[in-house]
Amino acid sequence: MKEAVLFEHTGDGKVRCTACARYCKLGEGQTGLCGVRQNIGGRLQLLVYGRVITGHIDPIEKKPLVHYMPGTRIFSIATTGCNWLCRYCQNYDISQRRKVEGELLAPEEIVSLAQKNRCEGIAYTYNEPTIYLEFAHDVGVIARKKGIFNSFVSNGYGTPEDIPVLNDFLDAITVDFKGNAEKGFVRKYIGIPDADPIFSYLLELRDRSSVHIEFTDLVVPEVGDNADSARRLSRWIVDNFGPEVPLHFLRFHPDYKMMDLPSTPVKTLEKHWQIAREEGLEYVYVGNVPGHKYESTYCPACGKVAVGRYGFDITSWNLDRDNRCTGCGHKIPISGNLGTYFRDGRYEPVIF
Ligand code: SF4
Repeated sequence: MKEAVLFEHTGDGKVRCTACARYCKLGEGQTGLCGVRQNIGGRLQLLVYGRVITGHIDPIEKKPLVHYMPGTRIFSIATTGCNWLCRYCQNYDISQRRKVEGELLAPEEIVSLAQKNRCEGIAYTYNEPTIYLEFAHDVGVIARKKGIFNSFVSNGYGTPEDIPVLNDFLDAITVDFKGNAEKGFVRKYIGIPDADPIFSYLLELRDRSSVHIEFTDLVVPEVGDNADSARRLSRWIVDNFGPEVPLHFLRFHPDYKMMDLPSTPVKTLEKHWQIAREEGLEYVYVGNVPGHKYESTYCPACGKVAVGRYGFDITSWNLDRDNRCTGCGHKIPISGNLGTYFRDGRYEPVIF
């Protein structure tokens, strides 16, 4: 446990947490909805500081981040808790756990583990990292000094107050929309009033940071697969981030409290892919469908496969050292070249 940075006093003996867009106002002894930030003695405490509930080594493509340091090994960690209540969460065992627990690890120890396991990056993932931002910050600052990059897998429900903290250490973020960010969906299946704070937060990130951004959208069949909403979301992304930002449409699998729905039909994902391309996005992907042709990167100028993928594996690399298409010379907006994951073959799972 450690005192949080992201909070303010409200003048009536309470504190307001400013880490996420819920802005919980907490009286003495109260804990925020995420379960990890508590008012103790008029100060907000981060209960999960130094408490890591899980750690794995993943390829960066699993996050998914496919235009940033492709083929690298990522040390992926999480704490308990979350600021969202997704009824389909695949990690509900840790995200919806409200008992603070996990391996006690200081920031230095986490970075050492990443180094020991030859990881080029650290990902704060599996639950929402914004809720433990101060802890991620302390890990990330040390990591960056050692030449290790930092990435968030986030729902984007952050605040303007987060940005200066992120700027100290964060290199890349993948922001996960759900159900095309449609209001009815997020209200019913996530437990937030609407997605407006995500859009505001993204504009803050765009204007006040240099973090690499990719987007995902979990397409949930029957209840979160509306074509008009997908078009609106794609249009917003093009208008505000340009045609070169990657967008991944992810397949839903039944889990947690939503076991009654089927997996998203591949045709529905392809329809979303088509819509996003029509709206002008040049790098659109289909995720969670291993072997699908839209896992690969295609050169928008000549149509050739620029980076071939199967699941999280890179199967072909048709870019020169400057990441230009070897077919036509078009510059593909990918930061970095191939990392150790690709060179070494399979990644090694689980550290503790
Ligand atoms: S991070 Fe937690 S305590 Fe803070 S506003 Fe969000 S849900 Fe509330």
